[in-house]
Amino acid sequence: MSTELLFRDDAYAKIASARVVAVDERGIELDRTIFYPVGGGQQGDAGTLLRANGERIAIVDTRKGDTMDSVRHIAAPATPLPEPGETVALELDWTRRYALMRLHTALHVMSCVVVAPVTGGNIAPDKARLDFDIDMSLLDAAKIERETNALIARGVETQTVWITDEELDARPELVKTMSVQPPRGGGRVRLLRIPGIDLQPCGGTHVHNIAEIGAIRVLRIRSEGRRNRRVEIALVG
Ligand SMILES: [Zn+2]
Repeated sequence: MSTELLFRDDAYAKIASARVVAVDERGIELDRTIFYPVGGGQQGDAGTLLRANGERIAIVDTRKGDTMDSVRHIAAPATPLPEPGETVALELDWTRRYALMRLHTALHVMSCVVVAPVTGGNIAPDKARLDFDIDMSLLDAAKIERETNALIARGVETQTVWITDEELDARPELVKTMSVQPPRGGGRVRLLRIPGIDLQPCGGTHVHNIAEIGAIRVLRIRSEGRRNRRVEIALVG
């Protein structure tokens, strides 16, 4: 059973209603969702499912299901679970998600300041990181911070574009992240374009305008192995 992924077309959807299609110890599946399941380095969403009887089901994590586009909403332990067929109101923990969106988009910008293959990455609500295959001496925290913030200050609108698998195969230079395969499905691939700055395959959630990021600071840079130089950032305010 696949879930309609509402966040894919509207990352700003904070509430929605959906029908419960399956419930088991591995999670709650809905016919549609605004909850992003962990993937591409971005943490899964949290929030609440509100039942018609007024009961609130706290969702502490969201993960991919067994089939393509299926999503499992993980309820807090010892929470009453809904019944299949029931309609629930979805409420996203928007403060958390918006921080993830701002940091995620900031990594796209930073990946154009540090020009090197990306070997890993992670986005949490309080900090995010990219790992690069690069010589340590080429990473200067003050310079990365200054140049990333200068690009953010351009305040350009982000765009989602779709291309076919064949188009992506013909343009391998688009794939910067060696550790994460592009989000393929149904013969097409989703790209995030930040005009004049970045274009790469990504299935995550992003802000509409990079000005929403505000500014970033580099928390630290350290070596995590020969091909992993880790640059960790946080939002300023
Ligand atoms: Zn992205």
